Amino acid sequence: MKFDVNAISRLLKAQIEGFESQNELSDVGTVVSVGDDIASVYGLSGAMLGELLLFPHDIYGLVMNLGENSLDAAILNGDLNLKEGDWVKRTKRVVEVPVGDALLGRVVGALGNPIDGLGPISSNKTRPIERVAPGVLPRKSVDTSLFTGLRAIDAMVPIGRGQRELIIGDRQSGKTSIAVDAIISQKGRNVKCVYCAIGQKNSSVAYIADRLKREGCMDYSLIISASSSEPAPQLYVAPYAAMAMAEEWMENGQDVLIVFDDLSKHAVAYRTLSLLLRRSPGREAYPGDIFYLHSRLLERACRLDEKHGGGSITALPIVETQEGDISAYIPTNVISITDGQIYLSTDMFNEGFRPAVDSGLSVSRVGSSAQDKAMKKVAFSLKIELANYRENLSFAQFGSDLDAETQKILSHGAVLSAALIQKEGRPEKLSKEASLLYCVKEGCFDEVKAEKVPEVLEGFHEYLINNHSKTLEAIESEKDLSEASMKDLKVAAAHYREEVGGF
Ligand code: ATP
Ligand code: MG
Repeated sequence: MKFDVNAISRLLKAQIEGFESQNELSDVGTVVSVGDDIASVYGLSGAMLGELLLFPHDIYGLVMNLGENSLDAAILNGDLNLKEGDWVKRTKRVVEVPVGDALLGRVVGALGNPIDGLGPISSNKTRPIERVAPGVLPRKSVDTSLFTGLRAIDAMVPIGRGQRELIIGDRQSGKTSIAVDAIISQKGRNVKCVYCAIGQKNSSVAYIADRLKREGCMDYSLIISASSSEPAPQLYVAPYAAMAMAEEWMENGQDVLIVFDDLSKHAVAYRTLSLLLRRSPGREAYPGDIFYLHSRLLERACRLDEKHGGGSITALPIVETQEGDISAYIPTNVISITDGQIYLSTDMFNEGFRPAVDSGLSVSRVGSSAQDKAMKKVAFSLKIELANYRENLSFAQFGSDLDAETQKILSHGAVLSAALIQKEGRPEKLSKEASLLYCVKEGCFDEVKAEKVPEVLEGFHEYLINNHSKTLEAIESEKDLSEASMKDLKVAAAHYREEVGGF
């Protein structure tokens, strides 16, 4: 058999020319090494930071490090099928996720892929996951309340639409429960909810999805989950993807509540990624841009002014502390980015005060201007009274004789603390919260034993519904406690005491 060398070289030349015209060299590169969800790529001189790359077998990567002739990419959907020498193509796009109402009621992965078995998402609109946060001019100050239905929060650390309020506490202190209750409470309030689970167990996410479905809350909610079994790059992009989905609704003039559960795990995923990318470790081995990681996320939550549609994103990031240490690196970072924090104390949780909101360490820096008038009237002295009670309580532990005044502060404080106890999954209406807290604050229940307070208050609320429904309706519609309502509540409490008798 004879080879026609000229023919072969002609063929090869034609192929090479064809190859070059199809793909510019700067748009195709080669995998040099791959492992731990990081691929080093030679070539792709035109690639941008954060650009989406396409590998064989429909594997996607995210450009994380740019070098002169090479780059490092984080593999988003598993690197098991990749090997040295594989091709890589630029997509010239940043990572985008589907957005819009088609996502409501769904459970999706970090890239907007459905994971609930309900079929593909019929959305034809996408948004890039990263975006510069709105500047100062399109923003408006927070002035509308985001009602959580939790007495302790609505009274002491009110949240406004467009606010970023951190939920912080040790593990198993009720952080997720508060966020889920806040989502349940948005039923009928025209607020879309996004629950973004980062590094949670799949079973926990399934439980929350089931809870929300049972309560009829999935019609206005979306769950996005990058579970603990997912590769670190997915955990890293999940909150940005969730924020992009929320932004679409905000820009259409709607109010959105977004929960990030939790940012500690997000920071750990980013640290893993950074160390694998050989970026230099700083404090607690986190990379230098760990602050920017969360600030560029949370700054995107805001309230837009009317000219920009008037929508808002309220963010409830969650951070887990170790042994209550809020001065660790990630907690202090996120505390300084947010507009306040709800601190959950494990001691209070174990004593039975649930939700375990620590009134001393919790604060809402902007929410009080958005607080409903009814709540404002009952809550203005609440924190001080509780602080006073706790101070006297520690003093009383010495066993010294107490004067009548101190006795009164103690008994009133005990009732007040117990009045903030609320069962999980039962967010309340404004009229219930305001009427009960008003009567407690006025001392109507001071002689009740602390452990009986939750039960007595439930009974009293039943009584109000049956006998004073007009007052409750007035509080609910006016969102205020009028003089007449206050008078009526006091009369009701007195009657109730007579009827039930000395508790
Ligand atoms: P983790 O650190 O594991 O994420 P967490 O801080 O999110 O925990 P949750 O999962 O919300 O805590 O709650 C821990 C436990 O406390 C759960 O079993 C939950 O049912 C219970 N719990 C939370 N809030 C209340 C409440 N108000 N009343 C009674 N039980 C509650
Ligand atoms: Mg949790």
